[in-house]
Amino acid sequence: MARIENPDVILIGSGIMSANLGALLKRLDPYLSIQVYEVTDGLAQESSHGWNNAGTGHAGICELSYTPGRELDGSVKVDKVIEIFEQFEYSKQFWAHAVTSGMIARPEEVIRPLPHLSFVHGEEQVDFLRARHAGMSAHHFFSELEYTTERERIAGWAPLLLEGRGNVPIAATKMDGGTDVNFGGIARGLLGWLARQERCAVATGHRVTDLTKTAGGWEVTVRHLADKREHRSRARFVFIGAGGGSLRLLQKSGIPEAKGLGGFPIGGQWLVCDNPTLVAKHTAKVYGQALDAAPTMAVPHLDTRYLDEKKTLLFGPFAAFTTKFLHGKGSVLDLPGSIRPDNLVTLLKIARHNLELVRYLIGQGTQSMADRIEVLRVFYPAAEAKDWRLVDAGIRVQAIKKTDGEAGIVHYGTEVIGDADHTLSALLGASPGASVSVHIVLQVIEKWFPALLASDEGNARMKEMIPIYGEDIKRPEQAAFYREVSDRAVAALGLRRGSD
Ligand SMILES: Cc1cc2nc3c(=O)[nH]c(=O)nc-3n(C[C@H](O)[C@H](O)[C@H](O)COP(=O)(O)OP(=O)(O)OC[C@H]3O[C@@H](n4cnc5c(N)ncnc54)[C@H](O)[C@@H]3O)c2cc1C
Repeated sequence: MARIENPDVILIGSGIMSANLGALLKRLDPYLSIQVYEVTDGLAQESSHGWNNAGTGHAGICELSYTPGRELDGSVKVDKVIEIFEQFEYSKQFWAHAVTSGMIARPEEVIRPLPHLSFVHGEEQVDFLRARHAGMSAHHFFSELEYTTERERIAGWAPLLLEGRGNVPIAATKMDGGTDVNFGGIARGLLGWLARQERCAVATGHRVTDLTKTAGGWEVTVRHLADKREHRSRARFVFIGAGGGSLRLLQKSGIPEAKGLGGFPIGGQWLVCDNPTLVAKHTAKVYGQALDAAPTMAVPHLDTRYLDEKKTLLFGPFAAFTTKFLHGKGSVLDLPGSIRPDNLVTLLKIARHNLELVRYLIGQGTQSMADRIEVLRVFYPAAEAKDWRLVDAGIRVQAIKKTDGEAGIVHYGTEVIGDADHTLSALLGASPGASVSVHIVLQVIEKWFPALLASDEGNARMKEMIPIYGEDIKRPEQAAFYREVSDRAVAALGLRRGSD
């Protein structure tokens, strides 16, 4: 535990968002003083912790929810997957810089190459996947994406998918350039580096309880949980990267931009495989079609994970109803406690429009092991309950804005929120969150710290860390440049290309 008084910047929370932001800011301005406060006793123990999320480096390769529906001519719109791929490339490049500059010591502990597969069954979906592959593989990001309907080839990619499967038509795509990421491990690496820098400190076991506007920034009230003592610290910029704890702190800040905001928590659960033979047989992330009324972020997938230095096999997440906003230090009163006169009407409208979703979440949470194994059998038909056990995953608090009440929607993206004075910024929401976290915090730096990038020197520092910064690598003319810088990141992180 370490504390510095009245730093330039206070980062609340030690997840992947604060970690990226802290490390980038310190690299851009080595004289900046930065304090991180984390309520739990360890770093990155909430959503960013390896067991609490799926660890998918979302690059649009396998997630069918990023290419919903078809055009009238039968083609599949691929703009969204290209956008997500590009955003994940920012993360890969910055984390590669973190490795080559010594901020992260052992990349194999935090990011691994892992083929990403999409798998579908039934004529209609097979046809959809073929069209999706045609659209995606035409772009240089996805030129290595493979497609097949051959059962033997799919069995070679992921044998469990074929075990016990009947004669229904199937298809799969695969790209070896996918990743399994331990976002918590990356956060701990970056924050460990930050804590070793001059004028920087990281304090665990400290809960930020209040924020008050001052003439030049904010006064933050912090409780040290061990001795229950409170202290106040001033900073000219505060970043609320508190995950599920962010909404409450934003409400405390009283900034007009927080008026009317609400949060809708969705819990998660995994099936974990305890049979080493099955774990050894499967080496991929396999995403499929949405089932029933499942929200896009609760579409289960069959994933190899590398956690606690061990290869593991997980299926999920299953969605679950919860009123807690945080897994560890949360309370069942979080949701009721977040209701304010300014967001009550929005929340009621959302609840009315989303009764089906709430019913689905309650149903998911109360389903039996047999029900869950039935869902698993969509992917692995020969699955047996004895090989699997249920564990809790993290909680996503989806941001709800006033306008969402009219539309009746629950947001699945990450929202960057801030005040007009450019002294406070916060993130709300979750998916695809951690994967595109570097791209997200760059928005914070561009808007709240423009001076750091205004000079040639600042820009050069940024380009050293993220060579694609300011470039449009989506354009075909940039394909060779993208390939060159991406190859360097792939090598630094020990990843793979499709044809390797
Ligand atoms: C089931 C599930 C699966 C997911 N799968 C993926 C995936 O495959 N790929 C992907 O990219 N993303 C995934 N996500 C999303 C991803 O986990 C999040 O977007 C990301 O981890 C958010 O990081 P964060 O730093 O904002 O929050 P967190 O990691 O939650 O960090 C916030 C920190 O703030 C601390 N805190 C809270 N309140 C206070 C306070 N008052 N004072 C001090 N500290 C406080 C918390 O203890 C916590 O450590 C998944 C999420 C879930 C729940």
